[in-house]
Amino acid sequence: MENVLYVAALLIFAFLLTLHIILSHSVKKHSELFICVMELNRKYKTLFQLVQSVYHVNYTCTSLQQLRNRNNIETMTNYLCGLMKERGSSWYAIYEKMEANKKHLREYNSEYKTLISSLAGNSYDKVKNHSIMSEDQYKRLEVRMCNRRKPPIAITEVSIICEVIYTTPKGTKSYSAQRKIEMSAIFDRIKYQSEAEQSIKYQRSLMTASKRYDIMRRDGFRCKLCGRSADDGANLEVDHILAVSRGGKSTDNNLRTLCRECNQGKKAKLE
Ligand SMILES: [Zn+2]
Repeated sequence: MENVLYVAALLIFAFLLTLHIILSHSVKKHSELFICVMELNRKYKTLFQLVQSVYHVNYTCTSLQQLRNRNNIETMTNYLCGLMKERGSSWYAIYEKMEANKKHLREYNSEYKTLISSLAGNSYDKVKNHSIMSEDQYKRLEVRMCNRRKPPIAITEVSIICEVIYTTPKGTKSYSAQRKIEMSAIFDRIKYQSEAEQSIKYQRSLMTASKRYDIMRRDGFRCKLCGRSADDGANLEVDHILAVSRGGKSTDNNLRTLCRECNQGKKAKLE
């Protein structure tokens, strides 16, 4: 009795498997959608650039204390920024490939979606006369088969394993610690820093002789802190109240007249 059940189950399984193979075959052969998805996969396989997903960078220290100081994400990210920001460096090339992959993956996903929504079920007419599937079943099987076809692999994020290392002068002992930092975080910071540099240059360029004169005239040609004028022997300068290096702008309300002594006193305080 048990044997009979076993054989029956096996037969049902074999039947279902055969049916599935036949149906899948019929979809593969006639489905416009399936053919287009395979084509799309082939196209993107050549577009996606080959990059490693993990790189290792060593950051050598000269003392154990230095290793402790450097063992944090902030310091390591800044170190990697310095290493990678040179245009034309091999890092830059890797970053560009990664960004290209991101862009292509977005395009792939959108093209894939369009194919599914415009073509799913379209080829049912070709098989409906000799198929046991309803149009809906055909459509579902078609989409499932396309989804199962793995898209080509695209590396869209590169991890940098940064390792701080200290080896004692005699080479007897070695200490190290490592952290993982994502390349997009490093390049986001590089971009932010270069934009800030651009902005500093621009704000300084706004400080023309005519601008300085206007501010001094507004302030009555007197130091805003001690009140002295050129007649009292003061050398007048125009000061950014919030320093340009800290994001201050060259706007009238951020500018004031100071004598050299007061200005230097202020700078000394800040340092
Ligand atoms: Zn003064």
